[in-house]
Amino acid sequence: MPTLLELLKDGRFHSGQALGEALGVSRSAIWKQLQLLEAELGLVIHKVRGRGYQLASPIMLLSAKEILGYSSDLGWDIRIHDSIDSTNAEALRFIERGGSAPALVVAERQTAGRGRRGRKWVSPFAENIYYSLVLRVEGGMRQLEGLSLVVGLAAMHTLRECGVPGAGLKWPNDVLVGQKKIAGILLELVGDPADVCHVVLGVGINVNMQRSEEVGQEWTSVRLQSGKVVDRNRLIARLNEVLAMYLARHRSEGFSVIQDEWEKNHLWQGCAVSLIAGVSKVDGVVLGIDRQGALRLSVDGAERVYSGGELSLRLRADS
Ligand code: ATP
Repeated sequence: MPTLLELLKDGRFHSGQALGEALGVSRSAIWKQLQLLEAELGLVIHKVRGRGYQLASPIMLLSAKEILGYSSDLGWDIRIHDSIDSTNAEALRFIERGGSAPALVVAERQTAGRGRRGRKWVSPFAENIYYSLVLRVEGGMRQLEGLSLVVGLAAMHTLRECGVPGAGLKWPNDVLVGQKKIAGILLELVGDPADVCHVVLGVGINVNMQRSEEVGQEWTSVRLQSGKVVDRNRLIARLNEVLAMYLARHRSEGFSVIQDEWEKNHLWQGCAVSLIAGVSKVDGVVLGIDRQGALRLSVDGAERVYSGGELSLRLRADS
């Protein structure tokens, strides 16, 4: 049975009676569900006596069938949520419940989307991609080396193909257009990294978002860059394929074969930066990354290497 949102997504008028019949509920139940859609998802619904109900503008919803229709079947279990706290959090619960990998969790919106160190990822309804892929990793640390950088590279290539030719990387795992963030990546791990573990590859991509007062730094979206409304199902299908290709390469050959390609796409290669870890700060010039994906900086003329999830890079004014 379709949901109320699926019936309304075309942006046309639907009478309360027709909606009630399609869903097998009363007209007053439809009325209550409409109020919920407005209150919870922030949707604007026109209510016109004699004509019925109409979404202020049509929306394209996520659909596993459409995602699979656009790509080859990778055998991933696709799980779509209208609203979830965080797709990474749901992916971690899926692992805890004993769900089998690979599995993909995507959502129309996140109420507590997260970045690194508990920071918030702004996640409005039906506009962007909130994507978490669950993988089972056997074979120890080597399989995890540079993994978040590989995910960034896959997201960057997908964006370039889909109308954002200027997308590039910022260590460790942001995708930017110029100085503006278009995608963020958050990896979370469960189990023993030296033996068998599960890893959640979280990717947030700004797709059709055009306005947000909430994002605390410069940002952009595919739509703002390309001037076109983008079909998120198609973008997810392409991300699945590109990511699967990079993951296979990383699994069989390790990160070192991807290192060079990553560096070539690093927007801040050769730039003067500050590396921030909590309250401490190191100034240097970006030399590149090493075979494990750690950052190589020239600091006072000597090469130093930095890795770890707590590090942030900022451009220096003199770069
Ligand atoms: P770092 O340089 O350490 O990677 P970051 O500020 O980019 O830092 P992340 O944890 O990668 O941090 O991402 C969270 C940050 O991204 C938020 O603090 C906010 O500034 C920004 N942000 C939140 N939502 C979005 C969004 N939808 N699009 C772009 N940027 C966002």
